[in-house]
Amino acid sequence: MVADPGPRLVMVHYRDDSREEWWMPQPIRFVIIEDEAPIRRFLKASTTPEEAEWHEAEDGAEGSRLVAKKNPDIVLLDLGLPDLDGLDLLKSLREWTDVPVIVVTARGQERDKVLALDAGADDYVTKPFSIAELMARVRVALRHSKKGQQPTEAAFDSRGLKIDFEARLVSLDGEEVRLTPTEYRLLALLARHAGKVLTHRYLLTEVWGPAYDDSTHVLRVHMGSIRQKLERDPSHPRFIRTETGVGYRMLVD
Ligand code: CA
Repeated sequence: MVADPGPRLVMVHYRDDSREEWWMPQPIRFVIIEDEAPIRRFLKASTTPEEAEWHEAEDGAEGSRLVAKKNPDIVLLDLGLPDLDGLDLLKSLREWTDVPVIVVTARGQERDKVLALDAGADDYVTKPFSIAELMARVRVALRHSKKGQQPTEAAFDSRGLKIDFEARLVSLDGEEVRLTPTEYRLLALLARHAGKVLTHRYLLTEVWGPAYDDSTHVLRVHMGSIRQKLERDPSHPRFIRTETGVGYRMLVD
């Protein structure tokens, strides 16, 4: 048995040439619960043993057993499993573990994505997905699961957008942005979960309260006015991406 080398500092490069450093377990230990063997093979073949350690399950019962036994860093969960509903499996995992879960869905299953996120999934990827896309999601999920154990950060600073959470001040390229209290709460929520998709229901419940959980039009109107203030070209957002049918995601640097 080789000694655990511990986490390593990794420089992550993004497509827009920005970069950041973060601590990554080495290798990342995955449990993948997916009945399609070609997908499992593709993931294994796309990573080196130094990057990822894969534990594979073809069905939910085996998957649940592996999560308990292997103590993974992350779980990839296909929602369409032969023996049970992936959503039910997710709910039962959430009764005893906070391990980050990324669900794997087929195209067009927006409703399933929303249900999975609301049931405690950290993110999703849609088939077919690239290894780069998956690993980007994994990094965000791992970073959030680590952050959960640390005090919340006092500021957000990315792509020229700065948010001082204590002073409740927002600036863009050095100039103050004037937001209404509701706009500020929405933006701050997205920024605190940067990189992660937040569902309509989650945002509405957090900002307006449980009685508004299906008022997506209210959300759309406020998001529109935030974008008017932040985005140079609201049709090609630099900061907040619309996840159609699901919610919104603050783009991370
Ligand atoms: Ca399947």
